[in-house]
Amino acid sequence: MDAVERASALRAYADETAGCTRCALAGGRTQVVFGVGNPDADLLFVGEAPGFHEDQQGIPFVGQAGKLLDRLLAGIGLQRSDIYIANVLKCRPPQNRDPLPEEIAACEPHLFRQLELIQPRLVATLGNFATKLLSGKPLGITRVHGHEQEVTLGTSRVLLYPLYHPAAALYTPSMLKVLEQDFARIPELIARAEAAVSLVAPSAAAAPPSERAPEQPVQLGLF
Ligand code: URA
Repeated sequence: MDAVERASALRAYADETAGCTRCALAGGRTQVVFGVGNPDADLLFVGEAPGFHEDQQGIPFVGQAGKLLDRLLAGIGLQRSDIYIANVLKCRPPQNRDPLPEEIAACEPHLFRQLELIQPRLVATLGNFATKLLSGKPLGITRVHGHEQEVTLGTSRVLLYPLYHPAAALYTPSMLKVLEQDFARIPELIARAEAAVSLVAPSAAAAPPSERAPEQPVQLGLF
């Protein structure tokens, strides 16, 4: 899929998702907060769930945590138009409470469809909920932040990079410092993930599916 097709498929999926009633959060939302950014991005951030301002505006990370995210991005020479931002939940939980397991399960297909359409190389998870969902492991963010790992998300191999949630770092200077340090590695990780894919992709992408080598772990150690 080229960039134009990707953008249009993502737009079509966002339209479809706007009326989602897969969980009870549909009853209390102002609107679905689907995601924002570059449909062709190599880097995708996954946060937790929309808060008050996101629910009002329909855009992820527009409150205080979002301003910090923008600052962190600027610090590594990126802006929102370079990346894509989505959340585990597309609808605001009441009083910004934690997502419930059944809400995560109901909303998960939306995130996985976004991943499948955007095909990012690097997925940066912000906080515990995104990290646990996409790593498939129960390890908390304090233990795993800053440690990249290769994972399969849907049909793609990506580099998963857990980070502290900007909202948590807002009022804890020590955490902010760590988040800045972890952020500083993002350009290197994007380059690594892109290089790994370009090593694997040319022949695999050129061959028709019937002639492609079966998925082998040999492809998986390249990051
Ligand atoms: N926190 C999140 O995790 N997502 C948002 O969109 C806003 C704040």
